[in-house]
Amino acid sequence: HADLAMYQAKQSGRGQYSFYSRALAADARLKHIIEHKLSETIRDKGFHLAYQPIFDLTSGEIVSVEALLRWSDTNIGPEQFVPVAEATGMIGAVGGWLLDEVADQYAAWQNMNLPPLPIAINISVVELRDHEFVDRFFESLAKAGLPPDAIQVELTETTAMDDIEFKIGQLSKLRSRGVTIALDDFGTGHSSLTYLARLPVNKVKIDKSFITGLGSNSVSQTITGAIVALSRNLGLDVVAEGVETQSTLEHARALGCQQGQGFHLARPMTCDDFDAWYRKYLRRDKTLPLFSS
Ligand code: C2E
Ligand code: MG
Ligand code: MG
Ligand code: MG
Repeated sequence: HADLAMYQAKQSGRGQYSFYSRALAADARLKHIIEHKLSETIRDKGFHLAYQPIFDLTSGEIVSVEALLRWSDTNIGPEQFVPVAEATGMIGAVGGWLLDEVADQYAAWQNMNLPPLPIAINISVVELRDHEFVDRFFESLAKAGLPPDAIQVELTETTAMDDIEFKIGQLSKLRSRGVTIALDDFGTGHSSLTYLARLPVNKVKIDKSFITGLGSNSVSQTITGAIVALSRNLGLDVVAEGVETQSTLEHARALGCQQGQGFHLARPMTCDDFDAWYRKYLRRDKTLPLFSS
């Protein structure tokens, strides 16, 4: 479609990201085009996943690998199309595909005799609201013969805090069977201290907007330090997202973030690139930052 092609061309310009994502949000017609293309893509299984490792910042060991959704043959990112998929109810089909895909990937690593890594998937509150979600989650694991700690969940708060009891119930069903749950993009959007206190989560991912400012922005530094202190007291692990430089890595570590993720440590990779990278990683010294990816 010509409009979609034009949108993609605009997307490829650097630094235009937020401008065009706002433009898209405002443009109902483009949303409609994406909606139409998305349903074709679901039918044709035209998505793939990128994998990005999350590291223990002290030991350099990989803690887990985050699976990031990609719309193949487009450069439209999940921040654009996931909201459309949610608004149209298509997210259930995408999420179902994704669960089977990560379960297969985990099993593939086992079969290749690579030490399998827990895979973290992203879900939004919209997906959690689906009464079938938890059953589908465990069905995918069972189908692939995987233990409940093979797949972790990262939850992003994109809507206001409605129905917290229901969310607590859904997450508890995952938690009680050994699934690790992280609160994603913490400190932005609708994530709040109430969530931290009440939701049965194990992990907090500090949003990259705070992490990027470490070393130059004293407010970011103060907020990060406070989130670390709070999380420690609640017995939660802390992940610094968006570690892009050596200076950020050192500041995040010094502030007590035990885990980290970001372009400076390793980029999101296709599954083949990840396999190659991981084999190399296993043979190397684990001192961060590693060789480039
Ligand atoms: P997220 O879960 O916070 O994922 C991290 C995002 O930060 C990814 O963007 C990743 O590529 C990017 N990133 C990683 N390291 C760095 C860094 O050092 N600097 C910067 N600037 N960015 C970094 P991506 O893949 O575009 O995903 C964006 C968001 O879309 C995700 O944020 C997540 O909320 C959502 N998303 C991705 N995949 C899925 C999915 O399968 N389902 C749902 N519901 N949402 C998804
Ligand atoms: Mg995430
Ligand atoms: Mg995040
Ligand atoms: Mg996010």
